[in-house]
This record gives sequence, C-alpha cells and structure tokens, in this order.
Amino acid sequence: MTFEFPLIDLYAGEIADPVGDLFASLNTPGLISFAGGMPDASLFDADSLRASFDHVLATDGRRALQYGTSEGDAGLRAIAASRVSRHVPTSADQIQITSGSQEAIYLTALVMLNPGDVILVEEPTYLAAVQAFDLVGATMVGVHTDDEGVDPDALAAAIATHRPRAVYLNPTYSNPTGRTLSAARRAAVAEVLLASDVALVEDDPYGELGFDAPAPAPIASLPGMASRTLLLNSLSKVMAPGVRLGWIRGEGPIMRALAVAKGAVTMQSPALNQLAVAHYLAGNDLDAHIARVRELYRPRRDAMYAGLRAMLPAASITHPDGGMFCWVDLNDGRDTRPLLDAAVRAGVAFAPGWSFYAGGPRLSTMRLSFVTNPVDVIADGLGRLQIALTDGDPD
Ligand code: PMP
Repeated sequence: MTFEFPLIDLYAGEIADPVGDLFASLNTPGLISFAGGMPDASLFDADSLRASFDHVLATDGRRALQYGTSEGDAGLRAIAASRVSRHVPTSADQIQITSGSQEAIYLTALVMLNPGDVILVEEPTYLAAVQAFDLVGATMVGVHTDDEGVDPDALAAAIATHRPRAVYLNPTYSNPTGRTLSAARRAAVAEVLLASDVALVEDDPYGELGFDAPAPAPIASLPGMASRTLLLNSLSKVMAPGVRLGWIRGEGPIMRALAVAKGAVTMQSPALNQLAVAHYLAGNDLDAHIARVRELYRPRRDAMYAGLRAMLPAASITHPDGGMFCWVDLNDGRDTRPLLDAAVRAGVAFAPGWSFYAGGPRLSTMRLSFVTNPVDVIADGLGRLQIALTDGDPD
C-alpha cells in the first residue's frame, strides 16, 4: 500500500505541470518543437566555460566547493551591478544572486505576499510565474494587455479595485507574446505605480535580445521607480540556462528579507557556478556573445513570423522585436489544446495559450518559440503545423 503524504491544496488531485509538458516534447524523436523556450544550444560557449571552471577549481577550489553567503559571491554581484548600472545606478549590495530568474520570482513572492494577497499580472503572462505565485497562495488578477503591452488605465483600475501588494510585469519581448511595452506606456505605468503603494517586479530576462534596435530602458530606470522595483535579470537567455544564475536588483530592507529567504530555500546558489561564471564574465566579452545570439535569432524570427503570416491569414500574430516567442490567436474560436494533439501527430509541437492566463484563458491562442530550430527546420515545422490545423478543422 502506498503511503499518502499530506499535500498542500494546490497539489491535491491531479498536479498540472505545464512547464514539464512543454519540455517533454523536445525529447520526442523526430518531433519539431516550438513549445519550450529553449535557447539554441550551439550558442553555449562550453570551451571557455570549461576553462573558467578548471581555473576556479585549480586556483580557488576550497572556496568554490565551500558554503558561501546567501546574497551571493561578491565578484559576481559586482559584475551584475555593473551590468545593471547601464540602466539604473546599482551597487553590489543591491544585488541578490539567484538560481535563475525563476527562483527570483519565487523569492520575491515569498517575501512580499502572504497567502491571499493580490498580485497583478499581465494577461497573458509567464506561466511559471503563475505557478510560483500559486505556490505561495497569492491571488493573481490579470490586467488587460494589447499590442503595446499592459494597458496603464486598466492597471490603475485594477489597483483601485483589488488593492494589490505588487504587480509582476515582463515588459520587454515578453513571454509569451513577444510584445514590448512602449516607452510612452512605461512612463504611464510608472506614473500609475508612483501614485500608489504597489511594488513592481520587473522580470527582464530578454531585454538584451533586441533584433532591430535596443529595447526601451527598464521601468526601474524611470524617475522614482528604482526604490520600488525589484528588477530581475538572468544569464539563461544570453549565456546558458544550465548555469542557473540570475539576480534581483533592489534597494532597502527588502534585500535582507530576500537574502534570508534565499538562505531558507537553497542556502545560496552554487558557489562553483558563481565563481566560474564570474571568472568567465571577467575574461570574455558577453556583449559580443549577445550580438551573436541576436544574429542567429533574427532570421529565425523573420522565418517564423513570415511563415505564420502566410499560413494563417485570419489570425493575429505578434511580430516580436526581440526575445524568443511569437504569439498567435487563431481568432476562429478553436481551442488549441486538442489542436496540439493533432500537431504532435503531424510531428510538431507548440505551447497552447491557456496556461499563460491567470484568469479566463483565450483558448484560441498559442505560443511558438523561434529560437530552438534553424530556419529550414522552422519551415518544415510550420508545414506540419499547417497539416495539423487543416486536419483539426471541424469544417
Ligand atoms: N521569467 C521569464 C519571463 C522567462 O521567460 C523565464 C524562462 N522561461 C524565466 C523567468 C526563468 O528563467 P531562468 O530561471 O532560467 O532565468
């Protein structure tokens, strides 16, 4: 007989795993996956990273293999501070190192939200943020977005109605839509937040991946906003997700709360990874690497967008200026969940849109990542998708 462990209400019954589902399709032989947000692995600079790991183990092995501080390695914090300072003046003690921005989202939720507290999110929003906010028992309320990103008037109305503690935004090359909040909207959002006591969690893992022009500056950099924003950055999309490193930029007593919570959850991010990545970043030009990432992804964005546009004349399709994702609304009342089954039978996968909503989902939506596959494979995958959409058509 299997012992029944107690489970939190969230995990009573069937446990949904939308992230696991998206990544699972990547391992199916022959399947072309547009489902997960997987960077192209050919970009990973394994040789230089190996040299940095070797160097750190050879010269500083005891420190690299020992416990460290919850805030993170001083050298990596200084490097992070100098990168963030391009937008917002930042000192190393305003940086909390995290295991990717996923942990950063969870830590911010842990320290700011009691069960039942409200956090506002874009509709649609990043699905694993929904999971993290669910895990702390927060109540999420979705705020309307359009082609320019979150609607500042809707944000103001939601703040007045729901009295949230915080708002979570992914304003640049957003996951899942690929949209970017315009500079004018950023100013309007800042104005709304400055007139309230609501904190901003600005999740910005894609901001450096602008294909056509640099992205508008983070909201955290607008006058008055730095002190009320937790700005989240990650090395996952610009370097390698496997090192699991990112950071939170913030000010004041919240930083101590974050460090203590980090200590309770994971003690610290792996010292070996932190030291090796700090060594790597000191000796290698990350900006030049990011330029190569953009060069590789831009034609893939073009191929994905053009292919979708030609294939789906009646659909709404976002044209991302950077990042990883196109967002499609079929606009025909069809539910993309059963369509995914047809697509997988045809040999292609996408992420159905329903799991990116905090509230009522728009079921005719889907997210497609254009970064994982080369242009010819994108074309092949879109051909398969066309077959699935035609087969799955009730008409
Ligand atoms: N935030 C957003 C908006 C993301 O798209 C992702 C990755 N899919 C993350 C956070 C988490 O990334 P990581 O933990 O690898 O930094």
